[in-house]
Amino acid sequence: MKVIKAIGKAKVSVICCVHGDEPFGAKVFEFYSSRVNKIEGLQLILANEEALAKGDRFVDTDLNRCFPGKREGNNEERLAHSIIDLLQGSQYVIDVHTTTSDIAMTPIVANLGAGVKRIINLCTSVEVVEMDKGITEISLIGSVLSGVSLEFNEKYAKTDQAFEEVRSTIDGLLSRSSRNKIVRQIYQIDRIISLDTVLPKDAVNFTYIKSLGIYPFLLGEKAYMDFQGFAAKKARQLTI
Ligand SMILES: [Zn+2]
Repeated sequence: MKVIKAIGKAKVSVICCVHGDEPFGAKVFEFYSSRVNKIEGLQLILANEEALAKGDRFVDTDLNRCFPGKREGNNEERLAHSIIDLLQGSQYVIDVHTTTSDIAMTPIVANLGAGVKRIINLCTSVEVVEMDKGITEISLIGSVLSGVSLEFNEKYAKTDQAFEEVRSTIDGLLSRSSRNKIVRQIYQIDRIISLDTVLPKDAVNFTYIKSLGIYPFLLGEKAYMDFQGFAAKKARQLTI
């Protein structure tokens, strides 16, 4: 793990490469590493360096499924434990991910508190995914008060537009700026889609599947071997 702290108390922590097979995070880390001396209140964490070097998602176990971690655990359990320590005192946590699923960028949250809403406000996505405690309690965002996972499609992540989105979100938090509020569609994810669930052939993320009564999310993510994605039973609108 690599940690770089800017001058002053870390107000915003950016976690990159919780998954080692998502190099977009490393790009964000590199970009800010070279500028960190000029930025007050930023902490950068390149989480799973060992997995990143191998191009693998993880070494022993999925880091985003083993929070709060263990002091004397395996590679990822120890990392999770150290990350929690590093995040003490951070006001906002940004967790950068990529997916093979067909989305642009979707913010994923574990609560809709004031800090989380502040981060969502800086994102352009109309769709916001709120995951239930049962799913997030072992993940990074479920282990901090105001954390958001920014989930980018891996191809979209290669565009300047995607990079600009991360940058404007981080810079907006650091400079305390905000965007005009817009109506967001909040999808409340409370379950996975099991492998034996028969999905319609035309199923797409966020589009209601009447026969199953769900809105699917992260369909076609190649890292999900034992389920097909996530599902929301309910969606609601919120101006953020
Ligand atoms: Zn990821």
